[in-house]
Amino acid sequence: MSVKSIDAQCQHCHSKVHFKIGHDDKEESIEKAIDNLTGKTQIQVRSIIRKHTIDNAEYGYALFVCPDCQILYNPYSVKVEYDNIMLFQPFHKCQRCNSTLIKATNTIEAYACEQCGEKQLTTS
Ligand SMILES: [Zn+2]
Ligand SMILES: [Zn+2]
Repeated sequence: MSVKSIDAQCQHCHSKVHFKIGHDDKEESIEKAIDNLTGKTQIQVRSIIRKHTIDNAEYGYALFVCPDCQILYNPYSVKVEYDNIMLFQPFHKCQRCNSTLIKATNTIEAYACEQCGEKQLTTS
């Protein structure tokens, strides 16, 4: 899997947005992807890798949306299953209203622009 990129533009405020999905081919394991993580998440993942048995790890850029503002975000997200039963999955928060973001399941056109909050994104 390599990173897929999507260019979008808001027809309302004309800001251009560049979304990325997935992870780079050379990040074939969570160990190699760890530099993409930041802050507390990076520290926690590093510690899980060191002390536990990893069963499954999903990571990469993904589209998330705020359930309240409908604004799209594009964080590098991670989900690690370990020791048969444990799950580490940090939440992403909306920068406007602090709601917990959910995975975006629709196409980009269904969501709002981060700059102006209008649902007028188009992809070329
Ligand atoms: Zn806009
Ligand atoms: Zn929000």
